[in-house]
Amino acid sequence: MGKKYRITTSCPQCGCGGEAEMSEEELKKKHGDVPNIELKCHECMMVMEADVKEDKGSSES
Ligand SMILES: [Zn+2]
Repeated sequence: MGKKYRITTSCPQCGCGGEAEMSEEELKKKHGDVPNIELKCHECMMVMEADVKEDKGSSES
């Protein structure tokens, strides 16, 4: 099936962080076909850049 991506955020202002998994389809639908996406911190509403990495599944480590 499609690729999966792991989106990691860490807010420089309040220090909260999060992780989400999204399929390629979802990611493109929500954010477009861009390497870097921006998300809003749900704690302090600061806009921060999220780190998007391809999730290659369980074959690693
Ligand atoms: Zn924050």
